[in-house]
Amino acid sequence: MKRPKVIIAREDIAQRVGELADQIRRDYKGKNPLLVGALKGSFVFMSDLIRGMNIPAEIDFVRLSSYGSRRETSGKIKVTKRLETPIKDRHVLVIEDIVDSGLTVGFLLDYLKRQKPASIKLCTLFDKPSGRKVEVPIDYLGFTVPNAFVVGYGLDLDEKFRYLPDLCILEE
Ligand code: 5GP
Repeated sequence: MKRPKVIIAREDIAQRVGELADQIRRDYKGKNPLLVGALKGSFVFMSDLIRGMNIPAEIDFVRLSSYGSRRETSGKIKVTKRLETPIKDRHVLVIEDIVDSGLTVGFLLDYLKRQKPASIKLCTLFDKPSGRKVEVPIDYLGFTVPNAFVVGYGLDLDEKFRYLPDLCILEE
């Protein structure tokens, strides 16, 4: 039986998301940015972030799948849900839940850049730099987390635990 243990409490997440939202609001004022969320994990973060930003912004989502084991990205990635919004000449802000090896978001950034946005930046709530295989430019970062599998605040293990309001690790 796996039991969640809180490593970042909901109040700390809320405070940091508010700080990121303030920073993004200042940087994107008057630019009508398009927030592109990577499904499914980013949905909770994105919904808090966009309300904290409180400036005109639009949203869209992509979904990527990677082959191989769930816990380790194999490097073969494909797009399973495409954008519905044309991003040519738009200011795109990619919203990720967590960057580990960097392969998923590296692929996503390349995919989006080919569609010629006016600008593209990356915002991730969590970062596990110890797992990095490819370099990824993170423009907005919430928290650095240790090299452990985390769940909650939108992040899952086999579709479970997304509903948890805090970021947790799982203990036996
Ligand atoms: P990467 O390609 O950077 O190795 O992995 C990124 C994706 O793997 C994330 O978007 C997320 O879906 C998943 N992932 C990586 N680490 C974790 C983790 O600790 N917990 C959960 N739930 N998903 C993770």
